Amino acid sequence: MSGTKQLSEKLLIIKQSDFNEKYKDVLKIASRDGIILGGRAVCTIIAFEIMLIIFTIIQNNWTEKKLYCFIGYIYLILISTAALLTIRYVKENVDSRYKIMSILNSSYDIALMLWAIYMTYIENKYSPSFSAIIFITVLVILPVVSFIRPIEYIALHLSGCICVLVIIQRLTEYGKFGNTVNFCVFMIISLISGLEFLEMRLRSYTRQIQLINIAERDELSGLYNRKKLNNISADVWNKCVSNNSTLTCVLCDIDDFKKINDKYGHISGDYWIKSISEIVMKSATKESDMFFRYGGEEFMMVLPGQSSAQACAIVENVQTKLASLCKEKGSEPVVTLSFGIYSGKPSQQNSNIDKFYSNADALLYKAKRNGKNCYCVNDMTK
Ligand code: GH3
Ligand code: MG
Ligand code: MG
Repeated sequence: MSGTKQLSEKLLIIKQSDFNEKYKDVLKIASRDGIILGGRAVCTIIAFEIMLIIFTIIQNNWTEKKLYCFIGYIYLILISTAALLTIRYVKENVDSRYKIMSILNSSYDIALMLWAIYMTYIENKYSPSFSAIIFITVLVILPVVSFIRPIEYIALHLSGCICVLVIIQRLTEYGKFGNTVNFCVFMIISLISGLEFLEMRLRSYTRQIQLINIAERDELSGLYNRKKLNNISADVWNKCVSNNSTLTCVLCDIDDFKKINDKYGHISGDYWIKSISEIVMKSATKESDMFFRYGGEEFMMVLPGQSSAQACAIVENVQTKLASLCKEKGSEPVVTLSFGIYSGKPSQQNSNIDKFYSNADALLYKAKRNGKNCYCVNDMTK
């Protein structure tokens, strides 16, 4: 039974949509890895191919085989340069461009495999004894330097190996049977070890994510914790300065929360913290919006590139959703929130992000003084 479960879990990895959704964070880490590992591998390939081209030109002894190999070198340089340029582009913002890296991994692997088959064909066309060193090298390094889905790896591996088996049958003059048997053994071993390696990487990335979540997220609410806020603050500020964009910080506090705890108990209080956090998290309108548990029943929204008007829309959306949840649960008294919204244009000269947080705090207190269940906003950017 557990074997069936394991197999179905593996099949989940095979379904593209599930894989992309379930392993979104895994793909982000894998992309970072791919930028380093793949980047190095691609650079090495380009350097090696340039060397081969120079040698071929210097030797100036053009045979038909050398000409076909030359075409192979040029093709590899072209696809590797394209891969390198894509890696550079993704590197600028991995978190939002990680999907491009996944597409690059698969496309480059296919292109590399086609090249390896082509070179194996050329090599064997002009030589009576079988040789597949290029193909074998490519097959072994693929799962190491690029993170592709197991199903893609299986398809790529099997179709490549079948092509080489056809080459053995068609072009090998000596030791056809022995080479076929040897190659089949290699084919099975490399497929199993390649899949094991991909699964090992998947497990290792998942563990990394679990550890990151433990360090960065608040357990009850699932929102980022105060430590994470401290860690990202300088980065957010600098990005806004360099993009010349607005930054809006919203501090939010549950109204009369003590009364809710006193009336219904802390477990019920925890339920509201969790539910409100979920509503807040789902209110994001941009990928760069970030939400933190700032204190006991206080939440901070950091909204780079969002104006005060856009922040007000987010806040109103949270208020509406919370009101309908209260209605649904028949909560008495109704749980409400107060907000302080501070918006400004970060610059090298003006203040710092902590000033934004304390201004949002001051505006929150103003909202509390104004009778709660409302928001106060500064109008600096208007
Ligand atoms: P105000 O409208 O002025 O914000 O009033 P308040 O009662 O919400 O504010 P106060 O600061 O007096 O009380 C906050 C309460 O939040 C007190 C504390 O017990 C409760 N609280 C803080 N963290 C948690 C938590 O994790 N779970 C629960 N259930 N309650 C919490
Ligand atoms: Mg409160
Ligand atoms: Mg409070």
